[in-house]
Amino acid sequence: MLCPANGEPLVIIEVEDVELDVCPEGHGIWFDADELRMLFLKAGVREELHALDQKLERLKKAKGPKRRCPRCSRKMWKVAAPGRSEHVILDACPDDHGLWFDPGELEEMLRSQLVEDEALDRVRDYLGAFISKGNPIDPDD
Ligand SMILES: [Zn+2]
Ligand SMILES: [Zn+2]
Repeated sequence: MLCPANGEPLVIIEVEDVELDVCPEGHGIWFDADELRMLFLKAGVREELHALDQKLERLKKAKGPKRRCPRCSRKMWKVAAPGRSEHVILDACPDDHGLWFDPGELEEMLRSQLVEDEALDRVRDYLGAFISKGNPIDPDD
């Protein structure tokens, strides 16, 4: 699979038996359908949020670079989680292959959904630099 940002091959990392795909240059992280749910389950995120990927709303007028799904190459939709995280705009495959998070977006989304601190800490432990902004291998600086 290729990075939606720069077309480089994504690298697989295994986190708690969940396989995720990350850009080696720090552009972000890809979750196949269900992977986000599995990670939330392992991290102890409260149950009502496990299906968050099913509740994302499409933003037809959102700006930002158009990205392509690493699975099917279709142009992804800009989406936002309901509630407080309208300002966190994610990229989702229109065919439900999965979700792409730029650096910082996953953490921001979890915070805006008021995920418990312990669960957020666990997700941070799992994903390390891939969850936060200021990725040490960020090519933009
Ligand atoms: Zn990349
Ligand atoms: Zn797709």
